[in-house]
Formats: sequence, structure tokens, C-alpha cells
Amino acid sequence: MAELHYTDLGDGIYCIETGLYRHGLAACYLVREGDRVAFVDTGTTHTVPWLLEILADLGLGAGNVDYVIPTHVHLDHAGGAGELMRRCPKATLIAHPKGAPHLIEPSRLAAGATEVYGPAAFAKDFGELVPVPAERVVIAEDGHVVDLAGRRLVFVDTPGHANHHGCVWDERSRGFFTGDTFGISYRELDTAAGPFLFAPTTPVAFDPEAWLASVDKLMARAPRAMYLTHYCRVTAPETLVGDLRHSIRALADLAVAEESGPSDDREQRLRTAVGNLLVADARRHGCRLDEAEIRALLAVDTALNAQGLEVWLRRRARRGAAA
Ligand SMILES: [Zn+2]
Repeated sequence: MAELHYTDLGDGIYCIETGLYRHGLAACYLVREGDRVAFVDTGTTHTVPWLLEILADLGLGAGNVDYVIPTHVHLDHAGGAGELMRRCPKATLIAHPKGAPHLIEPSRLAAGATEVYGPAAFAKDFGELVPVPAERVVIAEDGHVVDLAGRRLVFVDTPGHANHHGCVWDERSRGFFTGDTFGISYRELDTAAGPFLFAPTTPVAFDPEAWLASVDKLMARAPRAMYLTHYCRVTAPETLVGDLRHSIRALADLAVAEESGPSDDREQRLRTAVGNLLVADARRHGCRLDEAEIRALLAVDTALNAQGLEVWLRRRARRGAAA
């Protein structure tokens, strides 16, 4: 790689471009305290060599890494966790109880991702998933404190986007590393009104009620900043959280509106509805990009959201049938 793309955000926090799909889509974070390092999210297996180069650029090495903390096991966040652990011999992996088994034994994760993305795209974009030895994994229950050279990082259980999602509270910056729990906000869609936020309802465990409760849990700490995986830092989260709550509810409502319709092409109808909703929300936010440009920026998320909502509707139907 010719050039390393990472940004010093202050407080020992560096936002790193992972290189997935296009620049500005997926980040991960390096947190530095003295000469000790934690990574929060990792990008994919293909990202890992860059993470090691960035360590070198900061005058550090793999031996300085104490922790690797994926917010959840979706591959844009944790696909590189196994390879990064393999390359950082002193590191401990901190993982959600429901996510850890998939990082120790990633075959189900690989199968699930192959189903979502297709085999060719999976190989190209995500590469091989390296298993993490179980003895190097610490399970983080809600409130688990990670001590990074005296700096407290608190793992907070935040189901909703996924049932195995956690956010990491950094006392030093009074910020949360939010993975996907505080939504997606691409800088290309910023306007005079500030960042545009929407909810990723990615397969397979979208749960709007749990998600809204998790958002309240984050806001209860009065955070100053949210470090989003998609993409980078947003500040004054209290001014953004209304849009996120709206997006979670509107996506759930849009799916429920399709619930009783014919199921054969329902995912396609959901895709159309999700795309239209996101464009309308971006417009309401003051975004003046061409509609085609907005749709192109949100194409991957639109498809994943529709897939996730379809999976959610099927789960609701099963639950209804079981009741
Ligand atoms: Zn995710």
C-alpha cells in the first residue's frame, strides 16, 4: 500500500480507513495509552497488514498491542480479528459472550457471510477468517472493564443491530466506540444541518425495540462523541440521536407494512422501499447530491438493510406461528 490512511483524533485515538469497498465506508480505531495499544474493530483480514504498518508509523509494533476488541462479529468489524491476533502475540481478544464462539470457530461466520455476500465477493472482500485460540479470548459481559495501561475502557452490551453487539466507553474522551449501534453516517452526506445518520438493519438479528433501548443506554452516559465504524467521529450525539431513533422505527415500520404481502419478491420490494426512505431522509436533512449519487453511496447498505428486514419478518412469522 502506497499510503496509510489514518487520522489522529486526539486523546490517543486514531481513526483508520480499512479499505473495504471504497474510502470513507468502513473504519476501525487504534487507542493508545503510553506505549500500549487497543484496537476497536479491525476491518477485514486484508486490513491487518495496514494496521501493522500504522503501528510502525507511530513508532510501535505488534508487541505493543494489549487488546483487540471487535464491537460485534460482522465481518467489516471483526473479519480481521483472527489474523490481527495471530500477528500480535501479546494481545487478548475481548468479545461479547454471544460473539466470542464465532471468532474462536469462524466456520459458521464464513458460511453466513458467504450466504449474504456470495462466495466470490466474500473471498475478494473479506479473505480468510483466522480462528482465535480460545485461551486468548476474554468474554466481556455488560460493564466489563478493560485496563489499557490505566485507561478504563468499558464494554457495554448493546443488542439491537445484532444480538451480540457491544459498544466501548472510553472514559478519557467521554466517547463511545459504537460499531453499528449509533448508526451509519457517511461524511459525503453531511450538510449544514450536520451529519446524516441512518440505521443498518443488516442480517440476521435486527431487533428494533432492543436497539432503541441500547441507544438510550449509550445516551445515559452523556457522551461527547461517538466513534462510528461507518464512518469516523461524530460529536454532539444528543443532536443526532433523534434521527437515529427515527431511522430504526421507520425501517421497522416499512418492513411491517410489507409483512402481509406476497413473500416471493418481498425482499425486492423492501429494497425499493428502503432506498426510497433513505433518499427521502437524506433530502429532508438537506442533502443536495444527485439522487443517483445518493443511491450509489447507499447501495450496499440498501441491499443489506432489505435482506436484514426480510430475515426479521421471517423470524416474526415463525414466532407468530409458534405462539
Ligand atoms: Zn454490523
